[in-house]
Amino acid sequence: MTPNIARVALPVPLDKTFDYLIKAGSFPVVGGRVKVPFGRQQLVGIVIEITDKSDFPIAQLKPIYTVIDQAPLWTSPLFSLLSWASHYYQYPLGDTLANSMPGLLRKGRAASTGTLKYWAITEAGRDQPITALKRAPRQVQVLNILRNGNRRHEALLAEEVSSATLKTLVDKGWITELQEKPRLVDWHKHFAITEEKPRLNEEQALTIATINANPEFGCYLLEGVTGSGKTEVYLNALEPILAAGKQALILVPEIGLTPQTINRFRRRFNVPLETVHSGLNDTERLSSWLAGRDNQAGIIIGTRSALFTPFHNLGIIIVDEEHDASYKQQDSLRYHARDLAVMRANKENIPIVLGSATPALESLHNAKTGKYHHLHLTRRAGNAQSARHGVLDVKGLYLDAGLSAPLIAQMRKHLTAGNQVILFLNRRGFSPAMICHECGWLAECDRCDAYYTLHQQSGELRCHHCGTQRPIMHQCNSCGSTQLNAVGVGTEQLEQQLAILFPEYKTVRIDRDSTRRKGSLEDYLEAIKNNEYQILIGTQMLAKGHHFPNVTLVSLIDVDSALFSNDFRASERLAQLFIQVAGRAGRASKPGEVLLQTHHPEHALLQALLHKGYDNFADNALIERKEALLPPYTHLALFRSEANNSDHVCQLLQQIRGIFESSPLFNQDIFIMGPNPAPLARRAGRYRWQLLLQAPDRKTLQRMLAIAKPAIQLLPLAKKVRWSIDVEPQDLT
Ligand code: ADP
Ligand code: ZN
Ligand code: ZN
Repeated sequence: MTPNIARVALPVPLDKTFDYLIKAGSFPVVGGRVKVPFGRQQLVGIVIEITDKSDFPIAQLKPIYTVIDQAPLWTSPLFSLLSWASHYYQYPLGDTLANSMPGLLRKGRAASTGTLKYWAITEAGRDQPITALKRAPRQVQVLNILRNGNRRHEALLAEEVSSATLKTLVDKGWITELQEKPRLVDWHKHFAITEEKPRLNEEQALTIATINANPEFGCYLLEGVTGSGKTEVYLNALEPILAAGKQALILVPEIGLTPQTINRFRRRFNVPLETVHSGLNDTERLSSWLAGRDNQAGIIIGTRSALFTPFHNLGIIIVDEEHDASYKQQDSLRYHARDLAVMRANKENIPIVLGSATPALESLHNAKTGKYHHLHLTRRAGNAQSARHGVLDVKGLYLDAGLSAPLIAQMRKHLTAGNQVILFLNRRGFSPAMICHECGWLAECDRCDAYYTLHQQSGELRCHHCGTQRPIMHQCNSCGSTQLNAVGVGTEQLEQQLAILFPEYKTVRIDRDSTRRKGSLEDYLEAIKNNEYQILIGTQMLAKGHHFPNVTLVSLIDVDSALFSNDFRASERLAQLFIQVAGRAGRASKPGEVLLQTHHPEHALLQALLHKGYDNFADNALIERKEALLPPYTHLALFRSEANNSDHVCQLLQQIRGIFESSPLFNQDIFIMGPNPAPLARRAGRYRWQLLLQAPDRKTLQRMLAIAKPAIQLLPLAKKVRWSIDVEPQDLT
């Protein structure tokens, strides 16, 4: 019997596939999309298997509406990676596949480059004397562009002139719209190195030789202080790959922050380069995806989700700043792009380089146990030198918007010398709470167990957890007093106070509030480069990937909140931030200085970090993790649940706990913690609880989850309560 049933994965939160009848004359392919009826909707799904058997009576099966693809969307290593991710992160296959593709493909758009629209000049337009158009300079501009043989892409021209201008010209019959398919390029044929390369130092040369020695799978952890020439190593590692006509994928934490890096790749090779990031619109996203698949890009640089780009012939993966927390997706498919990238390199059988000045403890552990090759760059390229650093003991000192007098004095010294200063504070807003001076009442969000953050500029109280906003109140809700004070310092308050302390210098604040507008971050970075601002206030955002040569003083003004956090990764993050900023301050002729404000200068971690460096810190931190049975020595899965009914939320996790305890795999090496209320116990009116499962190795964790999940899904409460599994969680809130 000919197979006439397609097993389809659909973007629905269910761990199963669905069977559909194949209609005569339109045969689907495995790995291709089909449109099918599902309840009252039509959904786009992926064919996983073609078969002649179904667990359902054939008569009950519905036929496929339309077959969208004639060929599979993914190569087999990438498809195999996606199915692996679906199992590993306990996320339904249909949802995983849908998540990994551009929005337009999810909606059923054809997976091929469509036609592009162009403007072209007509004969009449060409003959038109420009002098007759003196009063219409925009029209002249368009005619001139198009006369010079430039066929302008629609989007490009629309950026320069209004649609009214274009319409006028069309109405006059002087320009016209054309549609064409873009020509495919064979970049490999013209491959060349387009700039002079610096002479490599010995360490760089050795590193590159190691990476390029083997074109097959190998994972290289490249640990190199900032400015030691890691990017130069990436460029050299890419060279033979591109020369052989293979493509490269480069992952970066945040694209807006890396324009210089992208330009270095553009300058070095005459190879088409595409970027993939959250700022792309749907069309651009599809176009980058296709450029990878159809070999129209030699290099793709992108954030987390770029990992899912298909390639015609991928030759290498680079993960820059591999320790960065943004590589972990915090919702839906909760994957870690660095870990999945290693898995992809394995499946594609190609090398992967993980680069960082401050590798994640997980990666260091993998290097120490021999899973990764550990490569080092210990010297700064060129002749830059490291910054001096010190701690400021602020115990008992008066703090003016968080700044101690010695820090203010130090700032003045650097500013007077014509240099720039960065202050790091990881807290947005004016102040993190408002308190009644008479009775101690705190303004609290009605919907969350959290205080309102005061945003003075916008005259609002905002909840940073659910987004609720309300006007600033002037009376205490509890006693009616009008003495309401702000407690604690946020970036907005710091900015205000700096204007008073340093009226002769300009301050700029870089955080999520101030850079919300598209392009504003780039504008600020440019202005900082041009010395338009002297004092920079930043959250973590400002630490990534920049080099500001005129910044000679960097201060982390509140180190204590990280030292005493209940998140076991907080100290690792602080150490990474410190090393990152210390590496960026100053340059050869202007040595930098880094100052940490703390009430606990004797803290062992700070001491290790300051006097012995990151590796020593990391060694100690790994010993601590081992003793405390924390990752990377154990493996975690975090169950989160939330609902309006607190009892249900806790009961569901209690039942899940019961399922694990009765598992045949349960033994004394497996720990189950909870159910406990989440650190933020109520958000947007919903109660939140957690259950943490800890296993000694990955395999046991995976097997326990795989056995338990179907049982969990059968629990009646699992349908009433919103719940999720986070495998290897990065954030325990
Ligand atoms: P990282 O990525 O580790 O921060 P980069 O590759 O950006 O380091 O190198 C830092 C600076 O040193 C850059 O300006 C780069 O052009 C320069 N550089 C790197 N390698 C060399 C070299 N071998 N000789 C001279 N300059 C180099
Ligand atoms: Zn809230
Ligand atoms: Zn009060």
